[in-house]
Amino acid sequence: MKNTFDVAVFEGDGIGPEIIRPTLDILADLAVQGGYGLNFIGCAAGAAHYANTGHSLPDTSMQIARGADAILLSAMGLPSVRYPDGTEISPQIDLRKALNLFAGVRPVRIFPGQKTPLNLPDDKPVDFVLIRESTEGLFHTQGCGEVTENEARETLLITRKTSELLFKFAFDMARTRKDTGRGPGHVTCVDKANVFRAFAFFREIFDKEATQHPDLTSDHAYVDATALWFVQKPWDFDVLVTENMFGDILSDLGAGLMGGLGVAPSADIGLDHAVFQPCHGSAPDIAGQGVANPFAMILSGAMMLDWLGTRYDNAALGADGVRLRAATEAAIAQGGALTRDLGGAATTDQAADAVRAALRAV
Ligand code: ATP
Repeated sequence: MKNTFDVAVFEGDGIGPEIIRPTLDILADLAVQGGYGLNFIGCAAGAAHYANTGHSLPDTSMQIARGADAILLSAMGLPSVRYPDGTEISPQIDLRKALNLFAGVRPVRIFPGQKTPLNLPDDKPVDFVLIRESTEGLFHTQGCGEVTENEARETLLITRKTSELLFKFAFDMARTRKDTGRGPGHVTCVDKANVFRAFAFFREIFDKEATQHPDLTSDHAYVDATALWFVQKPWDFDVLVTENMFGDILSDLGAGLMGGLGVAPSADIGLDHAVFQPCHGSAPDIAGQGVANPFAMILSGAMMLDWLGTRYDNAALGADGVRLRAATEAAIAQGGALTRDLGGAATTDQAADAVRAALRAV
């Protein structure tokens, strides 16, 4: 059984290095205790690297990422550093396309003790996963849309091949959640099939995939209604799957429900590679102060352990993924070491220490 894993690490820009450092320390400790190896390989990339060298994602970093078992990526990009066409440096999007990471996994969990803007009934825990297609949709012409003096045009692309992979991934995830007692085994296709032919096509492919999974249930929802239900009855969802731009917007809404971007982890997963990174950006307004919230980064590390454990059938990693998530959620719920974005006054290191303390108890 494979027991040592190469992890390509992109520390990123702004608060990126500040939140990835304690995350790597925690992961390294878990690996020692769990008897497996995590070999972290630093990779240069990002806005600061572009400013210094003219390259945002060097070939050497891309090669390391391709050869690694998993990729851990912190926040990237800086509003002050841009390409000549005015767009921001975003190697994370380049990686998604180059490695065909079609499934953007955005878990939304609200557990007892967690601050949320919602007034939730006690008996309605929120635990669902939004899967955002991450390589096509309205991002297809990203960076090369047509703009004339009087018109601007971008093209939405939905392909049968990617949609089939995406929907299979969504149903497989619903089955795993059902088997581990986390959901009823239900997948919702979020679209706008009542208005756009492209989404009727998307939905038709979804329905075909649904027939392959008679042990699971499925339905459809329009994206506008879904935004409403995120707020009104988020406990009703299990697995949702949607187009790139719809998913981009809904995932920030999901982060808002959880109390903010600082607690929202994510993964971008393909057939052969996966990137794990927090949903938030590089927060340049607070960079260098030691007050960034590390929880989303640490939770992304937990998702990496889950994924490696499943992919390589390594129970120790899978168990540590569950433990690390439980410990981070316990640290958030206890509330004694919350950073400023969550209403507390803790530093990044104090928040990470709270996770370490909680790990000793789970
Ligand atoms: P991007 O477009 O690159 O995702 P963004 O424009 O959404 O970035 P962020 O960098 O995510 O912006 O920051 C948005 C706000 O959230 C900022 O005020 C920032 O300080 C805050 N923020 C983001 N991440 C964190 C964090 N981990 N800890 C504390 N505050 C954060």
